[in-house]
Amino acid sequence: MTQPIELDKIRNVVNEVVEGTPIFDIHTHLYAPGFDRLLLWGVDEMLTYHYLLAEFFRTTPMSYDQFWAMDRPAQADAVWKQLFIERSPLSEACRGVLTVLAEFGLDVSTRDLTSFRRHFAQQSLEKHVETVFAHAHIRSLIMTNDPFDDQERPIWEGGWKPDAQFQSALRLDQLLNDWPEAAQKLAGWGYKINGDLGEGDRQAVRCFLRNWIERMQPRYLGVSLPPTFTYPDSSYCGQIIEHCLMPVAHDADLPVALMIGVRRGVNPAMRLAADAVGKADVTAVDHLCRAFPENRFLATMLSRENQHELCVSARKHPNLHVFGCWWFVNVPSIVEEITRERFELLGLTYTPQHSDARVLEQLIYKWSHTRTRIARVLSDKYTDLAHTGWPVTREDIGRDVEGLFGGNFEQFCRLPTM
Ligand SMILES: [Zn+2]
Repeated sequence: MTQPIELDKIRNVVNEVVEGTPIFDIHTHLYAPGFDRLLLWGVDEMLTYHYLLAEFFRTTPMSYDQFWAMDRPAQADAVWKQLFIERSPLSEACRGVLTVLAEFGLDVSTRDLTSFRRHFAQQSLEKHVETVFAHAHIRSLIMTNDPFDDQERPIWEGGWKPDAQFQSALRLDQLLNDWPEAAQKLAGWGYKINGDLGEGDRQAVRCFLRNWIERMQPRYLGVSLPPTFTYPDSSYCGQIIEHCLMPVAHDADLPVALMIGVRRGVNPAMRLAADAVGKADVTAVDHLCRAFPENRFLATMLSRENQHELCVSARKHPNLHVFGCWWFVNVPSIVEEITRERFELLGLTYTPQHSDARVLEQLIYKWSHTRTRIARVLSDKYTDLAHTGWPVTREDIGRDVEGLFGGNFEQFCRLPTM
């Protein structure tokens, strides 16, 4: 065993290890460069991220229609003026943009959006992707891949294959949340569907899932669900889970990721920024884990109020892996609270964070802000341990942090560890 770390050095060592450990980002909305325009990047995309737009609409007399009629640079100009010039950019989403610009060595004190744009315009995309991965210090990420997306589907049908850097996840929101529409699409793609979700339809859905698993080689099957989600349930969603998703996921040895708590379209005029949060019923997760003990579930919930119950569920079900703080709970104060609570209830058997990044460069700020919080909480926990006389070593911290930054997920998914 290596030498235990002295009490007053624990914080420094934890910071070093957390900074120095590469991350496997297990859920993003990013795409590999081969997906062309689907991969969003650059300062205008960062400024028009839907997190910022929700804040922008609170500050402007401009109508939604007026805003959406402008091109992307004009939209970014409007956001920059309102959120960065007219008032201090201290929200988490605003601060994120500045963290990214500073990381690229740009002088944010100039407040000169034109010069920031010039920097991004000079980058070649392939090299820029490598630079962003290096700055964010991530080794791999998982995309969100939706066969129901008309822009994305042809790229897979054209033979695109995931690689070690850009891995895939098969996203099934439409299939589970909007069966009538999904049924029509499946029929249009040649599956024998009559829409009643009888045994014939179920067979066709299983076949569709197997085909896309074969094509995408996903790390998991994922779905975002409303706070009203319940299980068992006689709805289409409940039936598809029971008769299609569970058996196929089981046979393919793939976990199912449940992202629960999104209230869609609360203010539809805001488009992607339209969604809100609702407290969900965690017993649905319990029932799934118990009804399908041979299946594995990844779960993350959007409501702060659900976090404690979800930890307790994970204590009861070894086939449940809790992950991430996303969207409205991915703000420093709440990340710190949730991370602390999870260490206290689950020890090291979970994955504290994924970035959910939608614009490439966001990887940098989402991970740098998260690293700070995780390091702070971990330092406290190792200090508490050291106070009992337990020898805390750099080796042990390194092993634990590798688990938290991807290793635990790889083990849960039975992937080869890197
Ligand atoms: Zn997401």
